[in-house]
Order: sequence, then C-alpha cells, then structure tokens
Amino acid sequence: MIEINKVSKWYGEFQVLTDCSTSVAKGEVVVVCGPSGSGKSTLIKCVNGLEPFQSGTISVEGTSVGDPKTNLPKLRARVGMVFQNFELFPHLSITENLCLAQEKVLGRNHDEAMEKGLKLLDRVGLKAHAGKFPGQLSGGQQQRVAIARALAMDPIAMLFDEPTSALDPEMVNEVLDVMVQLAKEGMTMMCVTHEMGFARKVANRVIFMDRGSIVEDAHKDEFFGQPRSERAQAFLSKIL
Ligand code: ADP
Ligand code: MG
Repeated sequence: MIEINKVSKWYGEFQVLTDCSTSVAKGEVVVVCGPSGSGKSTLIKCVNGLEPFQSGTISVEGTSVGDPKTNLPKLRARVGMVFQNFELFPHLSITENLCLAQEKVLGRNHDEAMEKGLKLLDRVGLKAHAGKFPGQLSGGQQQRVAIARALAMDPIAMLFDEPTSALDPEMVNEVLDVMVQLAKEGMTMMCVTHEMGFARKVANRVIFMDRGSIVEDAHKDEFFGQPRSERAQAFLSKIL
C-alpha cells in the first residue's frame, strides 16, 4: 500500500532524512518511534505529499507521490492524516468540520456528507456534540473529531503524527481506543507515537528512527524482545 524507497530530504544544507526505505502492506499497522528531531514527522508528511523530498521514491497504492504529474490534493484526500494538535477549523461547527472536505474535495452533496459525518461522529462516541464548536470540546474529544473527519474521506490508509502527545493523560486512552478499533478493522496505518502499549497491542511492525535514518524496522515482538541497535535499546529503556 505504501512503498518508501531510499528517500532523502534536505532543509537547505541540513539533511533531515537519509536513505529511508520501508513499506506498509494493506491492513498493516506500523508504529514509528524515535527521539525528538529524528525525522518522524517529516517522513510521514512526505508520504502524503505535505513535504517534498529530493531523492528516492514514495508510492501510495501505486501512485508516485513525488511525480510532478500526480494530483496531490486527490492523493491527500485518500490518505487520512491526524496531527498532534487536532487542526480542526475553529470557526466551523463539528458537523461543518466533518462535511467541508467531503463536499469540496469529493463533491458529495450536503445531505450525503452530513449522514456520513454523523455516522462517524457516533462511532467515535461524540454524536451529542455535533452542533458544538471545537473550542467547546476537550482535547481528547477534538482529536476524536479529527479522526472522524479523516475517516469521512474513505481513506485507503491513515497517518497519525503523535495524536495523543498534546493531550492530558486522562484523555489519551479515549483516542487510543478509537485507533485500536480502527486497526482491528483492518485499516492500513502508519502511526508516529511513543505509546508503546498501543504498539504492543496492535502494531505489526515497529520502525525506530534516529538522526534521519531508519535504524530499525522489525516485527513488534522482535523489537520489544531485543532491539538490535544500541540506539533503540537506549531509547526504549528511557520510555518504558
Ligand atoms: P520528529 O518528528 O522526529 O521530532 P521532525 O521531522 O519534526 O522530527 O524534524 C526533524 C528535523 O528537521 C529536526 O531537526 C527539525 O528541527 C528539522 N526541521 C523540521 N522542519 C523543518 C523546517 N521546516 N525547516 C528546517 N528544519 C526543519
Ligand atoms: Mg514530530
């Protein structure tokens, strides 16, 4: 589903990604972890074309992300992305947030978008909050709306960038529960997260990044059992 092949990227002189290669199969859940500044966010932003890269290739379901002929807005509509800071439109109601891209990008009519939006809002346990504005919801609720909004686009894969790290501790699980459910339903997911409980529960593979490189890409049991690299061992010993 997602093929990342020898991707390198520079910000000016600074090389942020070095020869990164990995792939995510349909229905697979891959957790990406590693120290702050190691390039995790940059890598997943490259996957849906939010960041350009200078060498290597990335394809999503056969569509080459770096190809100038690729319709990036169309690709982004098919790859859901959930950020650390929710990124809901603050001036729009929850239902408006859920409908906007469905109508503008997918061309659904309002009734259709609304039906889909409300169904997904119900699924993340927030149907009663449909008419509110993002500022009236807790962080955990806003993040669940952000997930519902991404799912409303019928994504072929979902990318998560530390979706729980801006949340108060008591709200982390309500968001992780939604993600666990998605994983169990077979969604293809690439998740940057340090929630190792989540990784243990649903990840197929764990990728460990350090200084712009993929240092380790292992089956979950192998990664938690005995990471090969010293850097991954040191990282795990700090966060577990
Ligand atoms: P992570 O998500 O693992 O914390 P990032 O992908 O956000 O890491 O960043 C990797 C490195 O790239 C960091 O050193 C960061 O300072 C740098 N970086 C990120 N975005 C930019 C940018 N727009 N311009 C220059 N450097 C950046
Ligand atoms: Mg990051």
